[in-house]
Amino acid sequence: MSTARLRAFVADFTALIDQPPDEPRVVSEGSKLLAALVAQDDWLPQTAAIPHPEHYSQYLLHLDPAGRFSMVSFVWGPGQFTPIHDHTVWGLIGMLRGSEISQRFRFEDGRPVADGAPQTLVPGDIEAVSPAVGDLHRVSNVFSDRASISVHLYGADIGAVSRHTYSLDGTAFPFISGYSNAGRPNLLADVPA
Ligand code: FE
Repeated sequence: MSTARLRAFVADFTALIDQPPDEPRVVSEGSKLLAALVAQDDWLPQTAAIPHPEHYSQYLLHLDPAGRFSMVSFVWGPGQFTPIHDHTVWGLIGMLRGSEISQRFRFEDGRPVADGAPQTLVPGDIEAVSPAVGDLHRVSNVFSDRASISVHLYGADIGAVSRHTYSLDGTAFPFISGYSNAGRPNLLADVPA
């Protein structure tokens, strides 16, 4: 495992955010950095790749000290999926292992309706979400017999952001996701360089 790759990515992404870029630049340049990271699957700490038998997991990999961005590994157990949800900040999703399906939604007459065809992400693929480019989606593991993992960047400490899930009748349910490794918030601090 090459933790150096993860460390180098965090340094490069921090340098990008330091500039500071507008959102289109975060999406275009951040996507390139993330695509290069997920092009190789040899750097994710094993402790951030463990599926839970009953629900998907989100492990905090790095939190910017100023809270400007966070980096999370999303681990889908077999057949697991999210409700329809929003993010309220920009998000970049890079597929690392396995495959996931993202169905975008938009509101029509107060109800979420499918927006375009579902997108299937395979390792190396990148997707962006935000209130500007489309913030509503539902994500599921393609596989019913194995885990999938994607790596997410968000423009905030996403585990602490107040956002929403939605039912198909348009009812909004506030939620704060937290992190699956809440007691050990920074995996980079736990592993040798
Ligand atoms: Fe999402």
